Amino acid sequence: MTDIEANLRRIREQIETAARKAERDPDAVRLLAVSKTFGAERVEEVARLGQTLFGENRIQEAQSKIPAVNRPGLEWHLIGHLQSNKVRQAVGLFHVIESVDTEKLARRLDQVCSEADRTLQVLIQTNIGDEEQKSGVSADALLPLVRVVASLEHLDLRGLMAIPPFFEDPECTRPYFRRLFELRSRVEDRLGLRLPELSMGMSQDFPVAVEEGATIVRVGTALFGRRD
Ligand SMILES: *Cc1c(COP(=O)(O)O)cnc(C)c1O
Repeated sequence: MTDIEANLRRIREQIETAARKAERDPDAVRLLAVSKTFGAERVEEVARLGQTLFGENRIQEAQSKIPAVNRPGLEWHLIGHLQSNKVRQAVGLFHVIESVDTEKLARRLDQVCSEADRTLQVLIQTNIGDEEQKSGVSADALLPLVRVVASLEHLDLRGLMAIPPFFEDPECTRPYFRRLFELRSRVEDRLGLRLPELSMGMSQDFPVAVEEGATIVRVGTALFGRRD
């Protein structure tokens, strides 16, 4: 068994264990393999093991990598900051944009999708730790942004994404995951809509995120190994 195969198996087991602990259906949690900095061959290697969901954080890297991956049926998520002037490229490459965080970006995505006569799934990135250096809409501004995005005809708003503050001890991240879960419930109640997806949890803390309701965990290092 290769390292990557062992890693993938262990991560899947950890997801399943965490889901059962929280009395959740393990199939309700999807693993997003974060392949940033790793080449197309690495993606193909993981895809051959049955992994279909992949994440990238930079348009430029994705532009050379995604078309180079020779494997049908993969689903690509953009998990990094997206500038309005890169929207056209992003729409051409990705199935889901997880990093929508401003009205301007949402309207631009809607416009480009309208021209292409397609619908795009999106998540709203929420700055759950209110960290100045991080992208994402603040918790206070989330409700009005959800209202706008949900109204855009060519965007299919699926849920929320967050990158909480980093802690060595994943238990310290738990309150942030819980806050995102509660925020989602509040927005659903207030606006009378459903936001089924919660993208939260990375290599360091994904089992805790699963316990707290994640439906997508974004795992890079624990699967592919350390990035240079
Ligand atoms: C890189 C990245 C990840 C994966 O991080 P690891 O710690 O390597 O698992 C997850 N989410 C986002 C937004 C990232 O940029």
